[in-house]
Amino acid sequence: MMKKKTFISRIVMALAVIILASCGTTSTVPITGRKHKLLVDDAQMLSLSSQEYTSYMKSAKASTDATKTAQVKRVGQRLASAVETYLRNNGYAAELNNFKWEFNLVQDKSANAFCMPGGKIVVYEGILPLTQTDEGLAIVLGHEIAHAVAKHSAEQMSKEVRAQYGGQILSGVLAATGVSANATNTVTTLYGLGSSLGQLHYSRSNESEADWMGLVFAAMAGYDPNYAITFWQRMAQSSQSSTPAFLSSHPSDAQRISDIQKHLPEALQYYRQATGNGAATTTTTKTTSKKASKSSSKKTSGKGYSFSTK
Ligand SMILES: [Zn+2]
Repeated sequence: MMKKKTFISRIVMALAVIILASCGTTSTVPITGRKHKLLVDDAQMLSLSSQEYTSYMKSAKASTDATKTAQVKRVGQRLASAVETYLRNNGYAAELNNFKWEFNLVQDKSANAFCMPGGKIVVYEGILPLTQTDEGLAIVLGHEIAHAVAKHSAEQMSKEVRAQYGGQILSGVLAATGVSANATNTVTTLYGLGSSLGQLHYSRSNESEADWMGLVFAAMAGYDPNYAITFWQRMAQSSQSSTPAFLSSHPSDAQRISDIQKHLPEALQYYRQATGNGAATTTTTKTTSKKASKSSSKKTSGKGYSFSTK
């Protein structure tokens, strides 16, 4: 009985893997409504991600700055809970199982941050002088959370698989490797991507999508999305002397800022809903000073700033 059951479940699994490999599943990205076809399923991505995250965190040095570490966790959790509420209320409740959010600050001087599938987010200390406040950090974390929610890693992997193997060949390869091997190992071996999830290069369109979604996520959590302009201008200035890693694979500054401006009205609607602040408008965009955005968010969030703005 046991044997028969195992055999049947292996066949079912084989079919699932083959069907997935040849056709993929089409899903819709929240907020943007874009449809994409993924060849790698959530369980496979999460398994890969948690393996890599565990080994990364073993080698990384956690920040010794308790205040800044707390800031990263606090802003991150506030964003994550706003995003989860949105997903739950907008037909994506099943997606919630795919996220186990973690927010870490690590010792690294580069101005960078990354997110692994499933919501494992790592912020480098080097980006904090550029984010400065909770709002600035919310823009970075919103962007990273967006990569996870939009499943950009699975999308990139699917692209690579298609380019390297093509649908039909892949089905054959997966079938030949034997379904008794666990799906994760098969995927890791085939795609050879198990060690590069955090460093995966997203396409420019994925980056722009993450900017758009991240802006909306920050606004939903009650962070003034106007601050995105201030933050990206600061990034652009700092990149004139040396290119921050966070920028290297990202759209050009000018393009990015103009795209963000295009999505500001939408984000501000969410911001007003979240804060009940009817006064927030895009007109402050160009003149938003550090002081102005700081005081406006203080007013709306009711939280003080523990992170010094120098
Ligand atoms: Zn990105």
